Amino acid sequence: MNVILLGYPGSGKGTLAKDLVQSLGLVHVSTGDILRDEIAKKTPLGTEATSYMTSGRLVPDRLVMDMLKARLGTETRGLLFDGFPRTVEQAESLDAWFESKGQSIDAVIFLKVEEDVVVQRLGSRRTCTGCGKIYNAISSPPAKENVCDVCAKPLMTREDDKPAVIVRRIQVYKDQTEPLLAYYRSSGVFHEADGGQPPAAVTEKVSALLKK
Ligand code: AMP
Repeated sequence: MNVILLGYPGSGKGTLAKDLVQSLGLVHVSTGDILRDEIAKKTPLGTEATSYMTSGRLVPDRLVMDMLKARLGTETRGLLFDGFPRTVEQAESLDAWFESKGQSIDAVIFLKVEEDVVVQRLGSRRTCTGCGKIYNAISSPPAKENVCDVCAKPLMTREDDKPAVIVRRIQVYKDQTEPLLAYYRSSGVFHEADGGQPPAAVTEKVSALLKK
C-alpha cells in the first residue's frame, strides 16, 4: 500500500505518519526530514536547499525529485509520503515514476484543519533534536520542560516555525500545494479527515480508513 498525506504545514501529517508507520508497518517518507538530513550532513543538495527552507519557500521540484528517487532506490511499496508531493509537477512525476515501476497510489489522505489553528500550532511546535518527536508547548508538552520524553534530548523550535516564516509557508501552501486537492479528488482514492481532532482520534479514524 502506498499512501500520501496532504494538508497545511502543522496539520498533523508528521505526528500521524509516525503512528501509522508503527501500526501499519509503512515506510515514512518525509521530504522535509530528508532535506534536513542533507543539510545536517552538509551535502551539496543540503547547501542548495538551505535558503529555500529557512525562508519558507519550496525547494525546486527537480532537486526534490532527484533526491527522492535516489533515497527510495528500488523501494516502491509500503510508502507513506508526508510533505510530498507539494506541487502538481511533483505529483505528475510521482505518478509517472510509480507507473514505470508497475505501482500506484492506494490512498490520499487530506487532513483538513482551519488556517488559524495551524498558525497557532506551528508557533508552539517543539521538535526533539534527538529522535524528532513532535510536541506542542501548549497542548501536548513533554513531562519535563524542553526535554524529550522518549530520548531525553533537548527540544527546539525549527527555524521555519518562527512567525515571519510561518506566514510565508502558509501562503506557499495555498499557492502551490492546495491545487493538489483538485488533482487527487478525481483520482478515486482521495479521503478527507478532520485534522482538528486530537492526534489519537485522527490516527484512529485514518487507520480505520486505510484498513478498509
Ligand atoms: P516540512 O518538514 O514538510 O514542513 O518541510 C520543511 C521545508 O522543506 C518546506 O517548507 C520546504 O522548504 C522544504 N520541503 C519539504 N518537502 C518539500 C517538497 N516536497 N517540495 C519542495 N520543498 C519541500
